[in-house]
Amino acid sequence: MILATRRACQPTRSGWQREMAEAVRSPRELVTALGLDPSLIEGAARAARLFRLRVPWSYVRRMRRGDPRDPLLRQVLPLDVERESHPGFRADPLGERAATTAPSLLQKYRGRALLLATSACAVHCRYCFRREFPYAEHAAAPRWREALAQIERDGRIEEVILSGGDPLSLSDGRLAALTQALGRIAHVRRLRVHTRLPIVLPSRVDAGLAAWLSGLKWPVVVVVHANHANEIDGEVRAACAALRAAGATLLNQSVLLRGVNDDAAALAELSERLFEAGVLPYYLHLLDRVRGTAHFEVDEQRARSIAGELAARLPGYLVPRLVREIAGAAAKAPLPPRFAT
Ligand SMILES: *Cc1c(COP(=O)(O)O)cnc(C)c1O
Ligand code: SF4
Repeated sequence: MILATRRACQPTRSGWQREMAEAVRSPRELVTALGLDPSLIEGAARAARLFRLRVPWSYVRRMRRGDPRDPLLRQVLPLDVERESHPGFRADPLGERAATTAPSLLQKYRGRALLLATSACAVHCRYCFRREFPYAEHAAAPRWREALAQIERDGRIEEVILSGGDPLSLSDGRLAALTQALGRIAHVRRLRVHTRLPIVLPSRVDAGLAAWLSGLKWPVVVVVHANHANEIDGEVRAACAALRAAGATLLNQSVLLRGVNDDAAALAELSERLFEAGVLPYYLHLLDRVRGTAHFEVDEQRARSIAGELAARLPGYLVPRLVREIAGAAAKAPLPPRFAT
């Protein structure tokens, strides 16, 4: 299979590409812009050496000034505690290396294959389960060839999930090259895109992206990733509306994070805002125990109680399923909500 190679002469960058390139990468810049205590800078700089700070200005503008506990800030500001080690928190808690069937391709669940289409993200989430993923071993674009060959070889794959990194950080041209190649594989019947870009950089959903989406031959599911109601503003609603107008079904996945969204009221508000934006809640993930993320963990009993309280407040279709990823299991494992008695 021949894929279009990167053009030697790049076309003019779109607005979103410029915004992505101009994202905040320096702890000092972030702390200063938000009017926070400068004493935060040193620890943030140390932790950023393990996993870089990266956050678009559009997302920073949704944070409260002067509030170190802002739920959006907490998701992106590196903290010294990330350098502590905790038993049970490892580099690859999900056993993803074992599920790799070709470079950049994970096959854990029946009928579905997840393609790490790129390692780039517009934002670096501190709790990210792929913060230590060996992308370099998997590589980005040039290795699609082997992943595509594996998808073609395995007739059981009905759904391809574009993930990463963030697949929408690829240009429209790269996305089109990828879906053209997938389009030649007859047994692929559904396409899914796992992306945080419509939330953190809604300008990504421009006319070019909408044209790509609406030209695809499969029903498309776009699973966005928001953790807090404050992430959803007018621009995000407009981006979601454009995705829907292009024919996509929109779902959301969140991670349950201590100090960000670990209470039923916050999660209920998130579900309601998502619904107003045309997005249904899908999963609420327990944190994957990746090194450097222990301070975000909510224990299982509390998580189940929060899920119980959430279920008691909302119509069923606004309640995400609380799940945990277990290495080697046949599906994401649901955790039953616990109801107050
Ligand atoms: C989460 C995940 C999927 C998708 O699972 P669904 O339950 O269908 O959302 C597929 N492949 C991998 C490797 C995953 O981690
Ligand atoms: S956008 Fe997704 S893959 Fe990228 S850092 Fe955040 S959680 Fe990780």
